[in-house]
Amino acid sequence: MKKPKQKVFVFGVDGMVPELVFGRYKKDVPNIARLMQEGMYARMRTTIPPTSIVAWTSINSGRDPSETGVHSYTEAPGPASMNTLITSENIRVPMLWDMLDKKKKTVVALNIPLTYPVRPIHGAMISDFLTPSFDEHSVHPRTLKSKITKLLRGKEYLFDVAGFTGYKKLDLDMLIKKTYTMSAQHFRVAQYCMKHYDWDLFNMVIIGTDRLHHMFWRHMDPHHPRHLKNSPYKNVIRDYYQYTDRELGKLLASSKIDKHTTIIVVSDHGMDRMECRINLNDWLRREKLLILKNTSPPLEIPRRLRHEEIDWKKTCAIASGGYQGRIYLFGKEKVKLKSYLIKKLNAIKGERGEKLQNRVFDTKTIYRKKDGKAPDIIVYFDNLRYGVNNDIGNFGLYSQETTVGIDDAGHSPEGVFVMKSPLLQEKGKIETVDALRIAPTILKALGMQHKNLPGKPLL
Ligand SMILES: [Zn+2]
Repeated sequence: MKKPKQKVFVFGVDGMVPELVFGRYKKDVPNIARLMQEGMYARMRTTIPPTSIVAWTSINSGRDPSETGVHSYTEAPGPASMNTLITSENIRVPMLWDMLDKKKKTVVALNIPLTYPVRPIHGAMISDFLTPSFDEHSVHPRTLKSKITKLLRGKEYLFDVAGFTGYKKLDLDMLIKKTYTMSAQHFRVAQYCMKHYDWDLFNMVIIGTDRLHHMFWRHMDPHHPRHLKNSPYKNVIRDYYQYTDRELGKLLASSKIDKHTTIIVVSDHGMDRMECRINLNDWLRREKLLILKNTSPPLEIPRRLRHEEIDWKKTCAIASGGYQGRIYLFGKEKVKLKSYLIKKLNAIKGERGEKLQNRVFDTKTIYRKKDGKAPDIIVYFDNLRYGVNNDIGNFGLYSQETTVGIDDAGHSPEGVFVMKSPLLQEKGKIETVDALRIAPTILKALGMQHKNLPGKPLL
């Protein structure tokens, strides 16, 4: 008898929250709940930092940020440049789709963060929310692009609801509407690819969860400092969980998924209410570590820090990041400065003088490799319940909002992992799993070599 084909279906849900899926909203996600019951599930410890493109790249390569080279949306700031966006071409290690392509296996990879420009793999690839336009760099193969245009009857294909951070300034009803329009397109295309490709690995990511969590959290969380009681938006997040689960159910009903298929549901991080933000660059300015040129305009209202106004000869530290803070150090005194800052950052208190559960990481000690492009320090204020504002010219140490907009919630360090597989040995709830174990798990489920990766498979 012919051995059944080993296949893996990965359903990625950006920012899906373990506390909600495994708890409060479990009854709203019957398809995920069934996978939990028939397979295994766990909280997933994501990358440091828990930034979407950093985490998805590590999940889909099995390598940590010092190896992938992906530390944030932008390259490390320095005298030469600041805020240069990175692309899939910055990734230094082979991704799952590269490994499978080499073995002539077929991959469908849809909307996975940091896949623009797409690779000409055997199969299909559509890039993510960072895509500048719907063209041959965002869809492979070309025939799929014309198929999508047909499927959407000429309507514009949406990679995101409104540009990169544009969703933070959308009217709330418009945000909901656009999130569903975009998601419906993504599911429609997923159904098409599910049917028309003879895939070994089908890997997709839904981004709507992240967008809605960021903007609707306070409407459903009574612990949120700006909670609105009986808000008309209190069920927006729950409704989207229900919708996502229903669409997952439709995909699972495909004849392409059978009892030999390994099914994984994974989120790249969780989410949690955001209490407040720390004005980190203003703080570095007051510490006399971030120095602006004399010609820099006066700080009358908060604004983005600009590359040309920084006195790079005198500056020793710069911060970036919106949830976690990433601090880059310059100059000869880096080692001394680092230990000074780690101590000081740990001691930063909350808005009402309360002690915070700060976590300050020296990236030299948390990563597998030495990487000059990594930030020197990463800080989670109050384990990410306090975010970061990297604008300058704010009043005091705390703000609710940045010039980009306001968030109800920020990323949290643990996502969701659910797996059903004929190869499973352990079932039910298991201990927190590390993000680096997912890629080797997928390779093993496909019968492929995984031993060169650091993580141990979960099968
Ligand atoms: Zn994310």
